[in-house]
Amino acid sequence: MDRAAIWRVAVEAPLADTLDYLPPLDPPPAGSRPGLRLLVPFGRGARVGILIEVVDQSAHPADKLRRVERVLDPEPLFDVLDLRLLAWAAAYYQQPLGAALFAALPARLRTPEPLSVETAPGLRATESGRAVDLETLSRAPKQRALLDALRSEPEGLTLGELTARLGDSQSAIRTLRSKGWITDVQLARAPDPVTETPPLAGPELHAEQQAAVEAVQAAFGAFGAFLLDGVTGSGKTEVYIRLIESVIAQGRQALVVVPEIGLTPQLRERFRTRLPGPIAVLHSALKASERERNWLRAARGEANLILGTRSAVLAPIPRLGLIVVDEEHDDSFKQQDGLRYSGRDLAVRRAQLAGCPVVLGSATPSLETLRNAKLGRYGWLRLTKRAGGARAPTISILDIRNQPLRAGLSPVLRAHMHAELAAGNQILLFLNRRGYAPVLTCHACGWVGECPHCDARLTLHLSERRLWCHHCGWSCPQPDLCPACRRPELQMLGRGTERLEEELVALFPETRIARLDRDSTRRRGELGRVLDAVHRGEIQILLGTQMLAKGHDFPGVTLVGVLELDQALYASDFRAAERIAQLIVQVAGRAGRAERPGRVVLQTRHPEHPLLQSLLREGYSGFAEAALRERAEAELPPYSHLALARAESPNPEDALAFLRQAHELGERLAADSGAIQLLGPIPAPMERRAGRHRAQLLIQCAERPRLQGFLTRWVNEVRTLPRRKGLRWSLDVDPRDL
Ligand code: ADP
Ligand code: ZN
Ligand code: ZN
Repeated sequence: MDRAAIWRVAVEAPLADTLDYLPPLDPPPAGSRPGLRLLVPFGRGARVGILIEVVDQSAHPADKLRRVERVLDPEPLFDVLDLRLLAWAAAYYQQPLGAALFAALPARLRTPEPLSVETAPGLRATESGRAVDLETLSRAPKQRALLDALRSEPEGLTLGELTARLGDSQSAIRTLRSKGWITDVQLARAPDPVTETPPLAGPELHAEQQAAVEAVQAAFGAFGAFLLDGVTGSGKTEVYIRLIESVIAQGRQALVVVPEIGLTPQLRERFRTRLPGPIAVLHSALKASERERNWLRAARGEANLILGTRSAVLAPIPRLGLIVVDEEHDDSFKQQDGLRYSGRDLAVRRAQLAGCPVVLGSATPSLETLRNAKLGRYGWLRLTKRAGGARAPTISILDIRNQPLRAGLSPVLRAHMHAELAAGNQILLFLNRRGYAPVLTCHACGWVGECPHCDARLTLHLSERRLWCHHCGWSCPQPDLCPACRRPELQMLGRGTERLEEELVALFPETRIARLDRDSTRRRGELGRVLDAVHRGEIQILLGTQMLAKGHDFPGVTLVGVLELDQALYASDFRAAERIAQLIVQVAGRAGRAERPGRVVLQTRHPEHPLLQSLLREGYSGFAEAALRERAEAELPPYSHLALARAESPNPEDALAFLRQAHELGERLAADSGAIQLLGPIPAPMERRAGRHRAQLLIQCAERPRLQGFLTRWVNEVRTLPRRKGLRWSLDVDPRDL
């Protein structure tokens, strides 16, 4: 048998390893290059696979090997660097290689479909159009020129090409089309190169921005990680733009990842007016065909700038010269199923592999990133002033113990609100709970509305007259009588945004009030409509959930009220305080402008809480210092590394029992080193969810490589444990939620 005759292929299947195949009978014209998309026999069917490498020997006898059915594309979709990144991600997150590769592919390319051919609308002369004597059109020069041009091109011309040759010819096109002399066609052609207006010039950089730009530019062509630590409005985006401009000028591509889909249109528009295109946008809300087209433009090196949400970090980008992760602290960078990766952490790894700088920007850096900056692993670039000269908002605490609350608002906050409204200013109220009331209960017998599938209460949504479970999506009509005792004694306890809105309307009549939460923005375009109305000054009070803190600016807002943060201060998740501090500072940063600085008021029953106090006295950096000290004492991340094994099953005991076995296995494997700690298993914070019983086992270790080594050995063995029917388990490396 000839050498180098075994193709090692990754497929999307729950396998730890690649599979060996014989090469296809028709060898690919461009050679057997890694990254090629293939169709391979698998079980009784066929699957898409990616060629990983060509080797000369297989552990299996050659007569047992099956043959690759065919090569699907003329060129590999991934290059060697892409494959290295994805292999790293698979190993790090303890997933099969196929899981990482297929997470990186647009949906259609996970099937044996061919790559889509790009088409552009165009026109072609018909038989009768070709037979016409052009002289008969001498009185209609536009029609004559158009027909002449089309007759000279047997395939036809795209509308863009026609406009370039003849200028606007809409009416001539209509006339010739109605005569049947020309016809509409789709031409297999890349879309017309947009005749871009030359990019607008930006403002002159201030000294801190200039220093940041120069520091990163000095790292071009080699790996370097930077924290761009700057309050909202300090000009971080302006720094990104300059950096992207200079990598594009060097003939390289830039990748910008953002946490939220909602942020891409504004940012895209800003980039479009400032940077020489083309820009490829990548996120899950795009139509599948559009996403695939943009992905291919990134992969073929045609797009100068790739702007997307976390999965864009996995896309092939052959000429990558710079990565920017905006709002790097945001939890949305963490993928919560399948390949449970952190888009931010992969961005840093990718920059290392590609040998290019990565810039992590935030007004409220994550504690992990701050520690890396403190240790000098990341360059620490600070922007301390707001670019437009706006002053930072003040943050203050309102002790609401023993205060008569109306609509959850203390008298002081209400007085502030009246004063701001009288002065013509806008107000933002933040309540992180949607729906009308989080509890429906019976005053007569004590019945409480609970989800039949989860350990959770049902939230009343009054406008829909339904009770909803926010954890599994189950719902039922709102009962009129108590389901238990049939008496009309049902009471709504607590307050969600829907109720707050209703109460505000009563408290502040004549005031225009709007609400932003997942329910109010379900209709397409609604979010944009509300934000526009706020910007035009048509809304005076805007209330909503954490959606308010995500990237939207509210220059007319001078007062921000945070209604309930006590829950977050005492939540079981050790990251809860970090999240609430980030949220407060983010909302604060988006309010106010130069002449009218914003003020943030936090209502609490725990005014002495140490983390709140440090946030108040020393701002976010003071808070972060205090929080890092707490983490160090408790040996929590970033001072240790975590992995969380989760199991769930239809039967109450199975998940716990499975993880107990996994624990024992782990104890045996880790016996040689006391460095690995296995904690649990314990029931998950919500033990039953969507009808399944859940448990979790925490693995903790101070040293990353040791943890990684342990996990690889352990996961291999846990996979072989017997599993009761319906039991599912998964491992989450660097979990965000415990
Ligand atoms: P961030 O991304 O940190 O929130 P931006 O880059 O969006 O900040 O800047 C905030 C505002 O200030 C924008 O309107 C931007 O155009 C403007 N700006 C940024 N840098 C400068 C500068 N050097 N001179 C004048 N205006 C600037
Ligand atoms: Zn009752
Ligand atoms: Zn439920």
